[in-house]
Amino acid sequence: MMLMMSTTTHSFDLQPLQLAFGERVKLGVSLSRYTAARVGGPADALMEARSSEDLVDFCSWLWQTELPFVILGGGSNVLVSDLGIRGVVILNKSRRVRFGVDERGRKLPVDLGAQQPLLVWAESGMNFGALARQAAQRGLAGLEWAVGIPGTVGGAVVGNAGAHGGDMAGNLLMAEILHHQGYGSSMSVRREHWPVQKMGFGYRTSALKRRDIGTVPLQEFPYQPGSIVLAAVLRLERSTPQAVQARSDELAAYRRRTQPLGASMGSMFKNPPGDYAGRLIEAAGLKGIRRGDVEISSLHANFFVNRGLASARDIYELILIAKQAVLEHSGVTLELEIELLGEW
Ligand SMILES: Cc1cc2nc3c(=O)[nH]c(=O)nc-3n(C[C@H](O)[C@H](O)[C@H](O)COP(=O)(O)OP(=O)(O)OC[C@H]3O[C@@H](n4cnc5c(N)ncnc54)[C@H](O)[C@@H]3O)c2cc1C
Repeated sequence: MMLMMSTTTHSFDLQPLQLAFGERVKLGVSLSRYTAARVGGPADALMEARSSEDLVDFCSWLWQTELPFVILGGGSNVLVSDLGIRGVVILNKSRRVRFGVDERGRKLPVDLGAQQPLLVWAESGMNFGALARQAAQRGLAGLEWAVGIPGTVGGAVVGNAGAHGGDMAGNLLMAEILHHQGYGSSMSVRREHWPVQKMGFGYRTSALKRRDIGTVPLQEFPYQPGSIVLAAVLRLERSTPQAVQARSDELAAYRRRTQPLGASMGSMFKNPPGDYAGRLIEAAGLKGIRRGDVEISSLHANFFVNRGLASARDIYELILIAKQAVLEHSGVTLELEIELLGEW
């Protein structure tokens, strides 16, 4: 699903936002330092959410006033246009974590020792790889596949991130969702606990990403998210720090051998059924080709790497070239795994 935000049809008065949130609103901030590919133009306004309470306050206000906005986690699965994003970008830095919680993420009144539930609650802005490392240090297994995946817990829930046979759908017990109904003065928000079954997970997708849950379909209001992930409760398994670390190291080493270093968005396209996007791009003869400072990696052709001062336009043009070449060579229409933000 591509979220297109128009720069041409809207112009927004940001003064009410500044009056409501004061110095927390930063104007005209370049997004290139907040994206993994290190590209992207300015956000009209940027606000940093330091807790899930901030997320609730910001999003509620923005839904009510109908100002366009987008949540940015690690910016590792998005390509932000060089023209930037009109409206507000909420940078998610909510990072609290609690191990040994109940299924709603609540701290237990007493320490149950070996009987403590093998669950962790994390706010959605927590770095997912760092969470996996914290679990490893405690001898808790189950998240080894996530070591080396950049980005936040929230981004991983929305996109059902996965690797090495694991994925978010396999670990998630419950997501705390901020859900809204309606817009403007008739808007109301609710914090809900969604069990994994309600998330509509599929290969690198979820009900939130598709926006097929909620009262307002994407095409009617494309420039605000329908629901927000505030936090998640994930299942873990008892192990030892040594065993979890050994498995994490093994998977990290595999990643280093098979994926290029450098600024990128990870896999550009989804793997089509029964095949690999990287193999198809390589078969079309595109490994190593460049457009400006962007290179289709000669190590893994589904990675498009910024070798210096790449623009989003360079990356976008390489996307079109790769799609066309694969279609002509193999008859397969590749689907983007990453999301385009801004105007293209
Ligand atoms: C080097 C590299 C390796 C990678 N390897 C993998 C891999 O092995 N497996 C894999 O699945 N992915 C991989 N990725 C892609 C990416 O890291 C994951 O998709 C990650 O989970 C995205 O998280 P994020 O916080 O960066 O999301 P962002 O890119 O910031 O956002 C992605 C989307 O989710 C929305 N969003 C983010 N947070 C929230 C929230 N709290 N509530 C509602 N919406 C939200 C955003 O608005 C946007 O639409 C890789 C990327 C890179 C750069």
